[in-house]
Amino acid sequence: MAGTSKAGVFVGAGKPLEVQEFPIPEVAPGSALIKMEMAAVCGTDVHATHNPSAPHPIIFGHENIGVIADLGSELKYDVLGRPLKEGDRAIFRPAPCGRCYNCTIGNMCRVRPTYGLIPADKPPYIQGGFSQYLYLGDDPWVVRVPDEMSTERALMAVIGNHTVMNGIDKIGGISVGETVVVQGSGPIGMGALNQAKVMGAKRVIVIGAPADRLQLAEEMGADDTVSILEYETPEARIERIMELTDGNGPEVVIECSGAGSAVQEGLSMIRFGGRYLVVGQLTDYGDRPINPSLITRKAVLLSGVVGSTYKYILRSMEAMNSVVKAPVEKLITHHFPLAEINEAFESHENLEAMVAVMRPNL
Ligand SMILES: [Zn+2]
Ligand SMILES: [Zn+2]
Repeated sequence: MAGTSKAGVFVGAGKPLEVQEFPIPEVAPGSALIKMEMAAVCGTDVHATHNPSAPHPIIFGHENIGVIADLGSELKYDVLGRPLKEGDRAIFRPAPCGRCYNCTIGNMCRVRPTYGLIPADKPPYIQGGFSQYLYLGDDPWVVRVPDEMSTERALMAVIGNHTVMNGIDKIGGISVGETVVVQGSGPIGMGALNQAKVMGAKRVIVIGAPADRLQLAEEMGADDTVSILEYETPEARIERIMELTDGNGPEVVIECSGAGSAVQEGLSMIRFGGRYLVVGQLTDYGDRPINPSLITRKAVLLSGVVGSTYKYILRSMEAMNSVVKAPVEKLITHHFPLAEINEAFESHENLEAMVAVMRPNL
């Protein structure tokens, strides 16, 4: 398939993203060309637009779903062994290398960046989701989306949910009947809420703002919500959580807010012997005071998590398809054509959107 593909390109911090046109490459036998359906605007992308040392040009878009438009003759099956054909919807990543240290210890491959994080300065250029077409390149990892699963639901499987699933395994799971506090009511917080429910948590309490996000959290199954606009200080929130948990605190806290004071707050409310998963602290500016004595005195099991291995993408897809009953499609609140890519980033940044998606072929 010859022709060109329009794409939204990050051309450096502080500059608006630009729509540019790129040639569509010939599809190699082991590869495929994807016609993009939806690509989520992620906080990582938005952060990069403020980071003077962020590499560019890049076509962002790393949470992707699209339709196979041109399938190479040797790419016959998806990773689960199901036959692939043109017209199938798929999610996709470059395959892990299998040889680097991280791959060897069963962690995220560190040498192969995923689509949406690959510089667009040389062919095949179109390797991010904010493009009409995305070229998979050599050795892709492809999962066919089951026909009965909506595009929105499949996309949500790779927004927050897979990462939190990975992290929950690191803290030894969640047992049936436990109480979980989720700090943060953005897309990752919603993933934590879904996954805690899937694992059998009796009660999930979401701390966050604004009101429409907490409303969505309730629609997703949160048993209680605590607004940071109503309970404005860490002390007030800790007290509220204690009230809601009969003075005990939760067995599990999952931090998804990124706020500087969140970890100290989480350690202060967690129950003795509790587990703390820290997902949201990807930035390190500002004051981030914590008292590590709380980790010792409360015998807390603490873990961070970043991204996920491929195993959790598969599990997350399966969970979304068969176990999660919450109306997760509703979390995708905003859809944008390529021409409005800067408005899409804006809607993420000002918290107007829960999840904003680019629809490059709208
Ligand atoms: Zn992301
Ligand atoms: Zn690797």
